[in-house]
Amino acid sequence: MFLKSLQWRLVSFFCIISFCLIIPIGLFLNKEVEDSYYKTFKAGIENGFKAWNDEKFINTDVKQVFEEITNNYAVLFSIIGQNKSFTVVDSSNNEIYSSDSRFGEDKDKFFNDLLRSDNFVSAMKGESGGKKKLMSYNGVQFFDYAKPVAGGRFVLYFRYYKDEWKEILDNSNRAILTSLVVAFVVAFILGYMLSKTITVPIVRIMQNAQRLASGDFEHVLEVKSDDEIGKLTSAFNYMAKSLKDTLAEISSEKSKIETILDYMTDGVVAFNMKGEVIHANPAARKMLGSNVFDRTFDDYAKEYNFGFSLEDIIYIESLGNREANIAIGDKIIKAYFAVFSDKAKRPEGIIAVLHDITEQEKLENMRKEFVANVSHELRTPLTSIKSYAETLMDGALEDRETTEKFLGVINTEADRMTRLVKDLLQLSRLDNLQMRWNMQDISIVDLVRGSVEKMALEAKNKGQQLEFYVIGDIPLVRADYDGIEQVVLNVLSNAIKYTPENGKITVYVSRIYNEVQIKVVDTGIGIPKEDIPRVFERFYRVDKARSREMGGTGLGLSIAKEIIEAHSGSVAIKSEPGKGTEVILKLPVPEMEGVI
Ligand code: ADP
Repeated sequence: MFLKSLQWRLVSFFCIISFCLIIPIGLFLNKEVEDSYYKTFKAGIENGFKAWNDEKFINTDVKQVFEEITNNYAVLFSIIGQNKSFTVVDSSNNEIYSSDSRFGEDKDKFFNDLLRSDNFVSAMKGESGGKKKLMSYNGVQFFDYAKPVAGGRFVLYFRYYKDEWKEILDNSNRAILTSLVVAFVVAFILGYMLSKTITVPIVRIMQNAQRLASGDFEHVLEVKSDDEIGKLTSAFNYMAKSLKDTLAEISSEKSKIETILDYMTDGVVAFNMKGEVIHANPAARKMLGSNVFDRTFDDYAKEYNFGFSLEDIIYIESLGNREANIAIGDKIIKAYFAVFSDKAKRPEGIIAVLHDITEQEKLENMRKEFVANVSHELRTPLTSIKSYAETLMDGALEDRETTEKFLGVINTEADRMTRLVKDLLQLSRLDNLQMRWNMQDISIVDLVRGSVEKMALEAKNKGQQLEFYVIGDIPLVRADYDGIEQVVLNVLSNAIKYTPENGKITVYVSRIYNEVQIKVVDTGIGIPKEDIPRVFERFYRVDKARSREMGGTGLGLSIAKEIIEAHSGSVAIKSEPGKGTEVILKLPVPEMEGVI
């Protein structure tokens, strides 16, 4: 367990190195000491044999040989001393004489011990026994040497006990052991210190890595050296910095995308591979309801009839139709589907972009309706012109009265078409903001009075009472005279048109706060409540036949509304069927005129 730490591994490594260096030295020293003692021992004996005279001992016995050596050869063999001994053995009868103290203790045991020595056994066989071997019997160690003499009659056997050099060896071994202990301590301290210089920075880097993992990028490590550790620290700092930069970039990118998603009007829903909703932006939640997360792709596919499944989109590349029109409540939504994948291009899910096309569809329908209306409006007069013209060509021309009547109808229809085309042109110009307004300060009182006068005859013809009132001081208004006059004339003519004979039409001009108000009140047929909001639509007429009969195009009020709105004003209608209608036009008074 503790070897897992680099620090302890280094300490152990140093200790093993010291052990490996010191122990062989100790063993070598031991061997050298022993070698040197053996060499002296052997050289002494061989030196003794140089002066040895074998002839002299041919006819002697063991005892004589022993005495002779004791007296004359002890110095030559250099066997004087406590730890050296010599023994003479008669090889024929094993009679034995020895200077060894152990011989005196137990003669039989001594002889048995002799037989265990290779050198002695060789000499008994007649060969010289000078092999170097440290013998050990019963805890006593020695070197020995044996040689047959007097033609093999006797064997001379020498011993050199280790006690002689044991103390030296013990001392040196003790010194070695001490140095081993010292080496261990030094190795421990050095290893510990060295490992500290390596492990401390590594531990600092490790702690910083943990800090990085928990999102703290502020801490920068100090580079203390120029070595590998220093380089590792710089590399780590660099890595932390680039990680911080990359993360900052990613998070700014993320917040940008989140802001886009939050504020875009299109809905965005992300599904994972299981079809679960993993993200829905506010627009999507508004479209699909706040429980958007509770349903899966399959639920939506079933509910809105997509006609394809999640797998179809992901796996069938050729599937062209990745769009679906779905109706949610009164809204029409177009959904576009796209697969998103990970780095290895493996699909991770799909994104649905929901685009609200309700308004678009409405506009499209209005456009179609408008074209149908225009065609219809033009076809009616054209049909009657054509049929009257054909009747005339078929012979009605003969009858002058009929001809005049028919031509009158043709003329009226042509006029109606002209009016229609003129109104359409004006609407188109208003739509394209191509109207050129001649804005100037005008008197609404004069304008309305003029219009009332223009319409007076028409009202008179219908026996209607047309009255005009100005309430209070009316400031000038900045407007296009002809445009506003067209609006007032239109409203007045409507009032006359839709008020039966002998009805009453009253026109008021007043100022309410910072607006000038023109109110046209009639006692006519009125407009049903549900039709009021629609009378400003193009071609909308409450009673088509009646309007047409009166020469209306159904465009008058829509043009009036556009003109008034272009002057920042407003139009409102209050009406009660059978009782009458009140049309209120309001125009703003310029700020300078704000105070009466
Ligand atoms: P038109 O050319 O048919 O008069 P307008 O756009 O001027 O077309 O008016 C639209 C419809 O509003 C008319 O067809 C009529 O049904 C209704 N309307 C307008 N003014 C009045 C009014 N003063 N009284 C009753 N109905 C009115």
